Amino acid sequence: MDRARRRGIRENGAAISVFIRRGGPVALGSARMTGFRVVIGGGGIAAVEALLRLRRLVGDAVDVTMIAPDAELRYRPLAVQEPFAGPGARRYALARIAGDTGAAFVHDALEWVDPDGQAVHTLAGEQYPFDALLLAYGARSAPPHEHAVTFDDANADETYLGIVRSIEGGYTKHLGLIVPTGHAWPLPVYELALQTADRAYDSGFDDVTVTVVTPEAAPLEVFGTAVSEAAREALVDAGVRLLTGARAEVPAHRTLVVDPGGHELEPETIVALPRIEGRALRGVAADADGFIPIDDRCRVQGMGEHVFAAGDATSFPVKQGGIGAQQADVAAAGIAALAGDHEPARFEPVLRGSLIAGERRRLYFQARLEDGRAVESEVLDEPPWEAGEKVVAEELGPYLAKLGSRG
Ligand SMILES: Cc1cc2nc3c(=O)[nH]c(=O)nc-3n(C[C@H](O)[C@H](O)[C@H](O)COP(=O)(O)OP(=O)(O)OC[C@H]3O[C@@H](n4cnc5c(N)ncnc54)[C@H](O)[C@@H]3O)c2cc1C
Repeated sequence: MDRARRRGIRENGAAISVFIRRGGPVALGSARMTGFRVVIGGGGIAAVEALLRLRRLVGDAVDVTMIAPDAELRYRPLAVQEPFAGPGARRYALARIAGDTGAAFVHDALEWVDPDGQAVHTLAGEQYPFDALLLAYGARSAPPHEHAVTFDDANADETYLGIVRSIEGGYTKHLGLIVPTGHAWPLPVYELALQTADRAYDSGFDDVTVTVVTPEAAPLEVFGTAVSEAAREALVDAGVRLLTGARAEVPAHRTLVVDPGGHELEPETIVALPRIEGRALRGVAADADGFIPIDDRCRVQGMGEHVFAAGDATSFPVKQGGIGAQQADVAAAGIAALAGDHEPARFEPVLRGSLIAGERRRLYFQARLEDGRAVESEVLDEPPWEAGEKVVAEELGPYLAKLGSRG
């Protein structure tokens, strides 16, 4: 956040800090305080899921303050539909969500955490003491290749609409799509590939090549064998060329070198998914990549009993919204246990997801993860969750369905 913005936040602090209790807005400071202070750092999928679960578990028995630099919850997965004129990434005002849940929303950002003093410090220079803290501030997206376009879900149209138009117009005949090495969520690359191949076909071109280069041994490898096979079949049906177990180099525009082998391709356009990097905040435990190490109760390792983390910010290798939501539910149970007479829960990850495989086709799947490996990999005809839900989250799904597109 730049200086002007920081100043803006400070000067307008009262205006942009929304303090609302259940039953309607009240003036700042007049809320009934219960004494147990929960601070949630973040306003994304994991943060809001935790807030909703906490209210379900303990009702009004804790005071929750949510701090985030974005004023909206961004439902990122639908961004891949935007350049194809589908419904894009939905946004929901965090002030509205705070109002619905009797929480306080502070438009600011965590700068550092003092675990011993049990307080977070923000960019605007404020300090918020806590009895329990949830770190759910996501991760940074970094461009992995200087000479490739990086798909940016916050600006999906800007990064990809021109490419779709160029395919429709017959100008682009070869598109290269890259899953970077390191931390990345690969699923959107397959959704982009399948929709692009579909669009080329619908535009009357059968001479367009879409090549996906991925370090995965098989597409959607993390979901296990059955899901990988179904994804591979969908890609083959759509005519997408798939290079697995491969690392991409982009030494220049229109030059895609695939290792091992050094095979050189010349797509007119090359698009990479962003690499995901940890934020590494001062005072917060971090692994070598800046992600927060957690135990199976989603407590941050080495930061005592009162600090939890969930979502992309954690060192759990699968950076997926549904997984983040499950961690958020576990963290909320841990916080409820600290606040009163509740059972803590354990994180037992189940990957659930869907692949947008074209304008009218979706594949649904799930797998249980054990020691980071998928077991019970399944492709589902009918998902046991609401079919339109892209992030499968027990609290967030029904809540957002109720909100509809109003947000
Ligand atoms: C194109 C795309 C498609 C995807 N498809 C799927 C899918 O189909 N299914 C699925 O489950 N997942 C999918 N994902 C992954 C999913 O979107 C992420 O895993 C999920 O958003 C992570 O949730 P989060 O709450 O950890 O972080 P985010 O949703 O990224 O939210 C982070 C929050 O932290 C806030 N923040 C940042 N810095 C600070 C700070 N210093 N202090 C306080 N707050 C801060 C941000 O403002 C934001 O509110 C997709 C992702 C992308 C990009």
